[in-house]
Amino acid sequence: MASEPKTLQEAIIYFADPDNCLNFLVARRWRDGVMCPHCGSKEVRFLATRRLWECKSKHAKRQFSVKVNTIFEDSPISLDKWLLAVWMIANCKNGVSSYEIHRAIGVTQKSTWFMMHRIRLALDLGTFHKLGGGPNNEVEVDETFVGGKLRNMHKDKKAIYNNTRGAFGKTIVMGLLDRGRKEVRAKVVVDTKRDTLQPQVHKEVKHGSTVYTDEAVAYEGLSYKYVHDVINHMEKYVNGRVHTNGIENFWSLLKRGIGGTYVAVEPFHLSRYVDEQVFRYNNRATADNPMNDFDRFSLAVSNIVGKRITYAELTGKEAGW
Ligand SMILES: [Zn+2]
Repeated sequence: MASEPKTLQEAIIYFADPDNCLNFLVARRWRDGVMCPHCGSKEVRFLATRRLWECKSKHAKRQFSVKVNTIFEDSPISLDKWLLAVWMIANCKNGVSSYEIHRAIGVTQKSTWFMMHRIRLALDLGTFHKLGGGPNNEVEVDETFVGGKLRNMHKDKKAIYNNTRGAFGKTIVMGLLDRGRKEVRAKVVVDTKRDTLQPQVHKEVKHGSTVYTDEAVAYEGLSYKYVHDVINHMEKYVNGRVHTNGIENFWSLLKRGIGGTYVAVEPFHLSRYVDEQVFRYNNRATADNPMNDFDRFSLAVSNIVGKRITYAELTGKEAGW
């Protein structure tokens, strides 16, 4: 097998060979050998001409492909196109539009849109550890408003408009940044009330950590479980370590991507886009974590196994692509 691709151009050449696509996926899906997805048996034989396996046990659906039970399942789109779309999404720092992918891989825009949503689902890596973890571990907590007319409005005024959010079509994203790990969690939330925001802090941040928030009433009471320092936005200069500049940088990246690449951002789709941006942010190259494009791509593909979303689940419509 040729060596692993390092650039999009190399990936195009590499995955043009169907055997490279297959071997790449098999290595990430079945690390301990190919296994029947229906009964779990490893007694399988490879049907080389059809690039399928057949389970030796007697049961229905004995034949299976590498696509089964993945986001690629039921898709007529070939694996090379799927993998290139994953490559582009995993690596384009400011987001990539369905139009760019449509042009690059040569499938319809409708199919591209569907592929992108499936891929985003795979980029939600699901994390099990909490942020913070001690009195010296600092976590920034903040919310931002995405969409429409309030883009340039100051945060205090946005809070006033929050109660009339429906009328303005705003969507709220809450984010938490662990400064030590340089790791972000972010999700779409329904409002900025205490009962919405505080459970997220308790869920994502170890008790005893230092938490920085703005002075929103929603965060009052966190000092019961955290060292809670509040930012006064009226002060002109940042007060030492008490700031949320880190998570605000993440908001900039998020909005740059949306502004440049997404026309309409419904809350459901924004949620997937947030996952995509969190994936790129948490897996960006740093001195401690020198990831390259291939590494990010490989991580995304590894996560694809077992993830599956249907067209009906995405849109409420039947598949027609
Ligand atoms: Zn089987």
